[in-house]
Amino acid sequence: MWKLRSAVIERTPEHIYLGFGSNLGDRYAFFERALALLKSEDFIILRISDLYETEPWGGAQGGKYLNAVIELERKGTAQDLLSVTQKIETQLGRSHESRYAPRTCDLDILLWGSETINQPDLIIPHPKQAERRFVLRPLCDLIPDMLHPVMQKTFRILFATVCDNLEVEKTGS
Ligand code: AMP
Repeated sequence: MWKLRSAVIERTPEHIYLGFGSNLGDRYAFFERALALLKSEDFIILRISDLYETEPWGGAQGGKYLNAVIELERKGTAQDLLSVTQKIETQLGRSHESRYAPRTCDLDILLWGSETINQPDLIIPHPKQAERRFVLRPLCDLIPDMLHPVMQKTFRILFATVCDNLEVEKTGS
């Protein structure tokens, strides 16, 4: 019995997971456009989490965020994907004027399978994900029983024990 349980939970993610956030303008339209632009770059979207509304994190300015996680099939390198996500953010009018400014589209590479990447401009798993309910909640829709590749805890456990208590409310799927 223990072995069976262990076999079920001790798996690390295989696919790519992208965190989406928007708190400016028509957030749902930006989400749809981000998905369309990922497809136009030949990324295959496998699954999408439910959509959530959350208060801005860390005292950020602006209205509530629309957040979701997108599961993609692996393609190319993580650096290639970073170029694509940055291009999409720019195409959707994201300005980088201040760290916590309201934004039309923020795309973070949360996970690249079970790999760890530590480059000056790219850290995977995304270092803040395990501290944020708005990331862990949608990740739990998709991979609750997978292990975080560095923390070696399931996303379900990380969500249940996270210190962040900002409200994350389901808003559609
Ligand atoms: P942000 O303002 O939160 O969108 O952060 C953007 C910056 O974070 C970019 O300059 C990226 O080079 C850097 N970065 C580091 N790791 C990641 C990651 N896993 N996903 C996206 N951006 C990352």
